[in-house]
Amino acid sequence: MKSDFLANMSHEIRTPMNGVIGMSELLMETKLDADQQLFATTIAKSGTALLTIINDILDFSKIAAGKMTLEPTDFNLEAALEDVVTLLSVKGAEKNVELALRYDPTLPQMVKGDVGRIRQIITNIAGNAVKFTQQGHVSLDVSGAKTDEGCAITFKITDTGIGIPDHMMGRIFQDFEQVDGIEHRKFEGTGLGLAISTQLVHLMGGDISVTSSLGQGSVFTVNLLLAAADVGQKKCTDPFLKTHATVLVVDDLPINRTVLSERLACWGIKSLVFGSQKEALEAARNAINGIDLFIVDAQMPNADGVKFCQSIRQIPQRATTPILLMSAVNHPIPKEDLNAIGQCDVMLKPLRSSLLHQTIGNLLDVDPIQDAPKLLEQTIMAAPANLSLNGHRLKLLVAEDNRTNQLVVKAMLKGAGIDLIFANTGAEAVNLFQECQPDMIFMDMSMPEMDGIEAAKWIRDLEQEQGKKPCPIVALTANAMAQDREKCEQAGMDDFLAKPIKKSQLLGALHKWTALLQAA
Ligand code: ADP
Repeated sequence: MKSDFLANMSHEIRTPMNGVIGMSELLMETKLDADQQLFATTIAKSGTALLTIINDILDFSKIAAGKMTLEPTDFNLEAALEDVVTLLSVKGAEKNVELALRYDPTLPQMVKGDVGRIRQIITNIAGNAVKFTQQGHVSLDVSGAKTDEGCAITFKITDTGIGIPDHMMGRIFQDFEQVDGIEHRKFEGTGLGLAISTQLVHLMGGDISVTSSLGQGSVFTVNLLLAAADVGQKKCTDPFLKTHATVLVVDDLPINRTVLSERLACWGIKSLVFGSQKEALEAARNAINGIDLFIVDAQMPNADGVKFCQSIRQIPQRATTPILLMSAVNHPIPKEDLNAIGQCDVMLKPLRSSLLHQTIGNLLDVDPIQDAPKLLEQTIMAAPANLSLNGHRLKLLVAEDNRTNQLVVKAMLKGAGIDLIFANTGAEAVNLFQECQPDMIFMDMSMPEMDGIEAAKWIRDLEQEQGKKPCPIVALTANAMAQDREKCEQAGMDDFLAKPIKKSQLLGALHKWTALLQAA
């Protein structure tokens, strides 16, 4: 009963949150002055923060009720962690705290596990690391060994933050425990994050621990045993770029130097790594053999990356050697500077392995063919959302009883060239399905008269009677429990979008199903 009550409550809260977040997202796309932009952004941010709390409480009670289940699938662990680090780096950059990821190149990239939950654990721990660090850096080091069953993986998250007092070390893993008590809170948070992460780690059969020294920083370690993926193992299979090439790397952060030299070695490239610009410049002047590429950290403490590049250009033999500048998200390098340096490219930190491979390939003038499909995927997603199906306008039936949410969907799909039909109840959805013959249906789950599950079953029955091909039905729902997903699948629905819906997700689902229909 408690779990049902929470599921219902979470639904009741999420539905209006859908309106708040969706509408503020749309508001930000309109013409606003600076103040209005700030207000709208604040609404969106607060909405998202509130949603995180709702999700925390929901997870917490799910675990307490023993209803948390894992959904293991094959996934790319390195890419998932790159996503986490990229997301957190925006927060870090605001206070000049750099984030770095080292993924042991001998580890397989594909493993089997619950990717959403693994991401949640690491986001929580690394998010805390960023939150409690005012200067320095946060690093995530992923290492491990292959075992008979799969891979024993160790995630080590190190920060240079405020540290944790000895007497709190064990307690922070318990519910609602925080170092600075409720009376003098300096940091936001519910005190549930680590408790949830610990439970999730245990559910996966792993362990979590911490060491810390006050004022110096903390190290959280998570050990997980992940099964091998069913799909073919990919282990540093990026093609070699250019053997015998030499790359000079300059970065003040040791972990970045390690990551770069390891990666480059994997791609058949020799590297000379330096922690200071002075030494690097010396080496650039004196290197007997050629240097084929420079990789330069654009923002080192007390050292300007652009000036360093200009000094390199003064060395006659290095006047046209390609340079790759690595820059933080909040420190764009002016175009004029890049033009003045010439023969250079910029990559945002934290570096993504596949993009690095491709960029270095371009700069060294080799053709990295294997990344083509990924690029194509990105281009498709970024293309303007003008959707048509076999030459005609896409007809979409949206069953949703809440007027605000109807408005959100309508506004999000404005300009996409879609014919939208709205149904206010499940019964109306069934009638409109027969009357209008839509190409696709987005179906809310809880509606008056007839709910989405019933309506989906009716529609599937009708199709069978009439010998029609099944029309894709995507459940649009605020219910976040796993059993809801099952119910949707059993009713014959094809896909699932959790509310609050983001424009990108809505368009993503439309693109996906149009492409599938077209291919059918
Ligand atoms: P929240 O961050 O929401 O308060 P958590 O359960 O994630 O809750 O963390 C509990 C407490 O542990 C935090 O409030 C903080 O006092 C302490 N803590 C967690 N991670 C760190 C860290 N990296 N550095 C210092 N203190 C930390």
